[in-house]
Amino acid sequence: MRDPRYNILFEPVRIGPVTARNRFYQVPHCNGMGHAMPEAHAAMREMKAEGGWAVVSTEECEIHPSGDVSPYVEARLWDDQDIPALSLMCERVHAHGALAAIELTHNGPTSSNLYSREVAIAPSHQPLKYGYPHQARAMTLHDIREYRRWHRDAALRAKRAGFDIVYIYAAHDLSLAMHFLQSRRNKRTDEYGGTLENRIRLLRELIEDTKDAVGDKCAVAVRFATEEFQGADGVTESEAKEIVHLLADLPDLWDVNIAAWYMDSQTSRFAREGYQEPFTHWVKQITRKPVVGVGRFTSPDTMASQIRRGVLDFIGAARPSIADPFLPKKIEEGRGDDIRECIGCNICVTGDMTITPIRCTQNPTMGEEWRKGWHPERIEAKRSDRKVLIVGAGPSGLEAARALGQRGYEVHLAEADRELGGRVTREARLPGLAEWARVRDWRVSQINKMANVAIYRENRLTVDDILGFEAPRVVLATGCHWRRDGYGRSNGSGIAGLEGPNVFTPDDIMHGVLPEGPVLLFDDDYFYMGSVLAEVLRAAGREVIYVTPDDAVASWTAYTHEFRHIQKRLRKLEVRLVTSHNLKSFGPEGALLSCVYTDRIQQVPCASVLTITARLPNDELQQSLLASEGQWRDAGIETVTAIGDSLAPGLIAHAVYSGHRYAQEFDTEPRGEVAFRRRGWKSVDRL
Ligand code: ADP
Ligand code: SF4
Repeated sequence: MRDPRYNILFEPVRIGPVTARNRFYQVPHCNGMGHAMPEAHAAMREMKAEGGWAVVSTEECEIHPSGDVSPYVEARLWDDQDIPALSLMCERVHAHGALAAIELTHNGPTSSNLYSREVAIAPSHQPLKYGYPHQARAMTLHDIREYRRWHRDAALRAKRAGFDIVYIYAAHDLSLAMHFLQSRRNKRTDEYGGTLENRIRLLRELIEDTKDAVGDKCAVAVRFATEEFQGADGVTESEAKEIVHLLADLPDLWDVNIAAWYMDSQTSRFAREGYQEPFTHWVKQITRKPVVGVGRFTSPDTMASQIRRGVLDFIGAARPSIADPFLPKKIEEGRGDDIRECIGCNICVTGDMTITPIRCTQNPTMGEEWRKGWHPERIEAKRSDRKVLIVGAGPSGLEAARALGQRGYEVHLAEADRELGGRVTREARLPGLAEWARVRDWRVSQINKMANVAIYRENRLTVDDILGFEAPRVVLATGCHWRRDGYGRSNGSGIAGLEGPNVFTPDDIMHGVLPEGPVLLFDDDYFYMGSVLAEVLRAAGREVIYVTPDDAVASWTAYTHEFRHIQKRLRKLEVRLVTSHNLKSFGPEGALLSCVYTDRIQQVPCASVLTITARLPNDELQQSLLASEGQWRDAGIETVTAIGDSLAPGLIAHAVYSGHRYAQEFDTEPRGEVAFRRRGWKSVDRL
């Protein structure tokens, strides 16, 4: 049963006219499904309610076509037509006893209106932050009145949809209520600009309007950024304190965090659990209303301490609730060890950023609740007594073994190394990535509770071993390795001179082999590995010349919100950065680089090169097994399936998903050409 130390987390808390059953609060988070996939969205939110969260929120919800954030897909409440999609979510959330919250927003100059083609509005004339090089126009006093009317109408619609908590959004530099606070965006000379009293006028009016419109039934929450890290141009902590003083008990709840989104949702590489406390702890001292805050909380002890020390009233979570929608239930049932802890990788963020349904490294069912009917805790029981042999205990092999084990199959998992975890174990040793080991640790701890899954460490299996094992189903999860020949996006014929000495790959570094400096690090991969290895080399005192054919270092990390943090860190470490240059060759004189635009060649003296270009599956075993297919029948083998990186190298998230999918689909009929459910059209309007 529940540990009494955590009782405090299960106290009900009153928020205006409604009461939350406990202190677990899923704050608004984007998910790439939004208004385009209402069933999938509702099913994903339902899972959080079923998992014990007291409040389950939408992502930001557009209230008017002039605040259209397309191409991003968020919630939408432009008129009555949008109500049914959101009432579906409310029904699903209420079915499990949770409160539903909606984050109303108008993004002003941070909307793009690419779909609606309306002219954007802002406190003053200014360029749009995203989308076309277009400008937003300054709002007149009439526009401000109109905007208040839209917000009020949206609140009324939200109430009709069934929401219990209605937000006014003034965070992340993403809404007019915040834009009016910022002196860089608000240059007005009327009663809405200039002094702080004037700049908060709109926020105050929105709170009053919303209370007046729906306050009888719905709580009115303010989501507020307490620090923007922009100096006097933006919201500063001292000004934020004044604002909270001025509005103290006006809203029913304060939901506080830091801006912009890349500062709020920092990865574990750059911030630890509880990292927002220094910026938000003071809010509770000013207001008597409940305060929710975030900080990628996954430890019940940290959570309880936040409440006990008077830092927060609610444990706010986006990512911890994505990685484990059942986190509150697990604490409540005294199963804290079963929590699937978020690793802080921000692959969830990449869904929204790439405008596709949310996915999670730790939780492969995230985003698949409706589409595939996957549940984070439950899985169909086995349909046969087929025995499964899995070769390789990296993220894909471990997840396949765990999920098949949960289904009740007899599973045998063989791993060549003494340590389990494959790439996760290796990469978690790199600077800042220690929490990634949770991918391994959670799976191993679950498997250790299963009598039907056997693990064989230090067992490098050969074809003969596999043929002799008599398992009808063989799964190859043997991973991949980094290429040494330079082949990749920029060099279809490899790179000259890499067959010689002093050439290294990430695998060498992860095995503790360090090159002599100066090292030319060639990044044709564009994600995290290049910058992480640059850190390793700098920590070992090597001079590093970081060369990439891309126009920026680590460009793909823009999707994980790490881009700016990485740029800052590499400059601080005095890594020499050379962008838009390809590596042509390497030899005793050093490296030859060519400009990707002009082909101009330059020679860079260096002692070694570290290439991060592409990977190859470790598929020797698969090739040999395919070559001996004639012997399968006698060996009792029905299928041999490669999963994870040994099928196609990718993210850890891909490997976990691959293993999970194998287990889900094991012994089931294929669904057809499309492996998942889609929203069909029951009718279309005839032209
Ligand atoms: P993925 O990301 O697809 O799960 P990893 O590279 O992380 O792949 O893990 C692959 C694992 O498979 C490694 O731990 C490796 O030691 C193991 N492995 C590779 N070949 C064999 C083999 N023949 N027998 C047993 N284990 C193997
Ligand atoms: Fe956490 Fe990564 Fe999952 Fe996001 S994708 S919830 S950061 S584990």
